[in-house]
Amino acid sequence: MGKASPLVEDIADELDKCNRCGFCQTRCPVYRMTGRESSVARGHLARLRATVSGELPLDEEIREPLFECLMCRACTAECPPAIQTDRAVVAARASYSAERQSLLQRLIFRTVLAHPRLLRMGARVLGWLKRTRLTVFSKLLRLLPWLDRGYSEAPAWMPAPKTFLRERLARRARSQTGERRVAYFVGCAIDYAFPDAGESTVEVLEAAGCEVEVADNVCCGLPPYSYGDLESARVLAQKNILALAAAEGEAIITDCASCASFLKDYPELWEEGDPARAAAEEVAGRVKELSEFLAGMDPTALEPVEAVVTFHDPCHLGRYQGIVEEPRELIRRVPGVDFRELPEADWCCGGAGSYSMSHHDLAMQILERKMRNIAATGAQIVVTPCPACIMQLRYGAEKFGVDVEVIHLAELLRRALPERTAAAHS
Ligand code: SF4
Ligand code: SF4
Repeated sequence: MGKASPLVEDIADELDKCNRCGFCQTRCPVYRMTGRESSVARGHLARLRATVSGELPLDEEIREPLFECLMCRACTAECPPAIQTDRAVVAARASYSAERQSLLQRLIFRTVLAHPRLLRMGARVLGWLKRTRLTVFSKLLRLLPWLDRGYSEAPAWMPAPKTFLRERLARRARSQTGERRVAYFVGCAIDYAFPDAGESTVEVLEAAGCEVEVADNVCCGLPPYSYGDLESARVLAQKNILALAAAEGEAIITDCASCASFLKDYPELWEEGDPARAAAEEVAGRVKELSEFLAGMDPTALEPVEAVVTFHDPCHLGRYQGIVEEPRELIRRVPGVDFRELPEADWCCGGAGSYSMSHHDLAMQILERKMRNIAATGAQIVVTPCPACIMQLRYGAEKFGVDVEVIHLAELLRRALPERTAAAHS
């Protein structure tokens, strides 16, 4: 197996590109809250240069600032040499985690995520505990090695649906009349936490004339990658590359912005010339995020949805994939929608995977700013196509008392499908 993304000592040249201008301070959500140089890209890069030169050991001391970064890429957008601080941070996390990864995290990343049956069983047990034994559920969550020790609010916002998406789709009659065949990559969070969003995706794709084949995929690998476990990320990526190469269809669609972004980045997990990279490129070239795919198709006939709607850009959609206009265009296609642009729409909401659990206080400060902006739009509905953002924003609406519904883009489009409207009115 080839080499994954580099360790921190391999990226010294990239670290040296920083000219210390400080432009990255303007938009770093973490720095805006902490005001600490150690939180911003310039601080991260200086610290990593010191570890590469041997002045600073890559030890426990460095853990907190290293894992404080949201990997949102806002700094890269402001940085004259466009340094990808998120990649530098992952390289450092990989170096750090190589010798310090906890057994439990290793077990989750290497075994549970790679075996859907185990993951499904774990999700079912956790969901049942959340619904019936909240205290036990909270205690179990606290075993997670990356959880903020003082954190006790997870039960309040973690969704626990009784049936998962794949189970629902297995019972559903599949449309075989579509003019275009596509494969649907089912992300873990959509499957186990937001099955309504996933069902909506399939309905919307079918309404657009697609025959949808549900892919036999596992976790995309982004969680272990983000924590610096590149080996686990590659194992998961290889499983998916095999499954997706076998999937028929002109495109591989996913409704999770984070999965889409990471699937497109699969080739980066291997070096040039590695055969695994060529296979990853073939798969990555077919991946389309849902709005990216739908925006390129003829508009479907839609019924009105009378609502004030705004849109939050997930970092993995806008900055990672450059998909900004497509979801807005799709929202505007819905008759009756009064679309209002969200101030700082592309600022991270603080969800960032499990950031809300690992850095709870900071995540809440970042979220409060986001919720204030949402409230200022007067929106009744916030649309966003990322499960982590949906979870975070729903929690924010409750915590900060903002009367707004948070839904996936596919759910808004599904509400506008003519037959659904007719059924709802009957
Ligand atoms: S990736 Fe985001 S959180 Fe991390 S340093 Fe850059 S702007 Fe700050
Ligand atoms: S904007 Fe880029 S070059 Fe300037 S200080 Fe920040 S990381 Fe360094």
